[in-house]
Amino acid sequence: MNIILLGPPGSGKGTQAELLYQKYGLTHISPGELGRRGGDELAKKMLTYMRKGELAPSMLVMKLVQKNLGEHNLFDGFPRSLDQAEELDQNVVIDLVLELGLSDPEVIKRLSSRLECMKCKASYGPAHKPKKAGVCDLCGGELVKRKDDTPELIRKRLETYHDETEPLLEYYRPRNLVYTVNGNNTVKEVFKEIVRAVEARS
Ligand SMILES: [Zn+2]
Repeated sequence: MNIILLGPPGSGKGTQAELLYQKYGLTHISPGELGRRGGDELAKKMLTYMRKGELAPSMLVMKLVQKNLGEHNLFDGFPRSLDQAEELDQNVVIDLVLELGLSDPEVIKRLSSRLECMKCKASYGPAHKPKKAGVCDLCGGELVKRKDDTPELIRKRLETYHDETEPLLEYYRPRNLVYTVNGNNTVKEVFKEIVRAVEARS
């Protein structure tokens, strides 16, 4: 089973990715994560681009992905272009493309009120409130606003998301692979719908 997870910033993609790969034992393929985790030369190179805030060359991303492929994979933050999607098709059979659907105003609303744990980087918002205000459920760390969650930067990230994602959806749609989940629900409800979509395909 190979799943691609797409979703705008603030859609809870990270949380859903985590739930998904835990439930189904998928290999989590996120070039950003692989870079951060470090280890080999490829990951180190990836991290260099990330630190500079630059987009890594597709060749490098592809190599990193190929090296880490498992039997069943969850692709998160990848592919980001049609080139990468075509390249990925040469390596694995995609079973499902999950899109977390969230309108632009909803994304802006969510990101503007999003808080992040200073210690473990866990993210909180209207759909995922901490048990105690201002305190992380997971580690007890202090919750603060992220520096890149300004209206201008949010709008920029949204634009990039639309530019990258819409062609991808059109690429996969003719094969009937795209399933859009209503990202406006709670974490639990969204995951339930995702599980339903996954089970329907397997
Ligand atoms: Zn924390």
